[in-house]
Amino acid sequence: MDFRFKKVCRRIITGVLTAVVATVAVLFPINADAAEPLGVSYSAFYSNTGWGIWNMDNTSAMQHGSHIGALKLGLYNQPAEQSGTILYQVNVSKTGWLEWVENGAVAGSEIMGEPLESVRVKLSGDLEAQYDIYTKVLQNDNKWTAWAKNGEDAGTAGVGTHIRGIRISVLQKGSEAPNDAEEIDPGRPMIALTFDDGPSVHTPAFLDVLEKYNARATFFVLGGNLRGNQIETVKRAVSLGNEIGNHTMSHLQLTKRSASSVRAQIDGVTLLITGITGVQPTLFRPPYGSYNSNVLKQLTQSGYACILWSLDTLDWKTQNANETARVVLEKAKDGDIVLMHDSHVSSAKALERIVQGLQARGFQLVTVSELAMHRGGVSAGQTYSAFR
Ligand code: ZN
Repeated sequence: MDFRFKKVCRRIITGVLTAVVATVAVLFPINADAAEPLGVSYSAFYSNTGWGIWNMDNTSAMQHGSHIGALKLGLYNQPAEQSGTILYQVNVSKTGWLEWVENGAVAGSEIMGEPLESVRVKLSGDLEAQYDIYTKVLQNDNKWTAWAKNGEDAGTAGVGTHIRGIRISVLQKGSEAPNDAEEIDPGRPMIALTFDDGPSVHTPAFLDVLEKYNARATFFVLGGNLRGNQIETVKRAVSLGNEIGNHTMSHLQLTKRSASSVRAQIDGVTLLITGITGVQPTLFRPPYGSYNSNVLKQLTQSGYACILWSLDTLDWKTQNANETARVVLEKAKDGDIVLMHDSHVSSAKALERIVQGLQARGFQLVTVSELAMHRGGVSAGQTYSAFR
């Protein structure tokens, strides 16, 4: 459907990350909802950028090139009738174990910048009796530790390892250890598949393939499509770990529009996506890949990074599953952002071969925000076509 032209993107990576937009912005839940399971949220103090976003239960908190110097942990959806809270203790390099702190307090140093070497996390009161809490850390050898449970050491103190990332999850007592499916190995190649112009009647077929192969992707949706059954499709996409980005309300050529018109095209979708998923999108893809200084200015004000692509399948043009799969499998390389469309059944048919083929070659299929998080991050109003 689209005539597309590539822009050579100014990739301005300064090493200084904008933490709020570097990953999917999470709306930190305030009100406990008994219907929702208990979860742990956590914010890390990164050596490069300071405090990061509040990560939700069992997501990876890390930033490229940073170690972690301090942590804040909290719980959400704690039933009012259950006593107890979350307690945690950190081991700071050259200092050793600090005192236990609880629920929202800072553990570690924001000033000295010394890295954490180990962390212990546990629950108290009724929570301790009814839940297990698991913690694992990414060490400076780029490897995640095994899960440490209920106050065990996550990470090894005193042997020169530093914590670069952390992941925490709380589960009903006696459950199996948390799912590791979303875990990304920063030492292995990764690619972000992106699908534009949906959600459509074909989108569930894309999700089926992603679910089957434990892969994730980013869907740049049109606000005009967010109604009826497509709303459930978007919710399912998010529940499977996929990312939802903004592709405007109605696919206009934004370079020909006024500032207020561009802004309406962007912000209308922000409201819709946030309403459906509870997560505010931070990535924008301009229709036709077409943008100018006005578009970037509006994106800056709306908090969006402008995401282009490095590998164009032209799937909308060929509408040939064999050809679409061939292009990706022949050309894909580490850090690519691949452009496809979930508005075509041929692309859905190509996807299984693409996912199988890329995974067989060792590529991890991640969302754009995950790719960005491991490769320098993004800033609002900047354009990106790949993350090498
Ligand atoms: Zn489009």
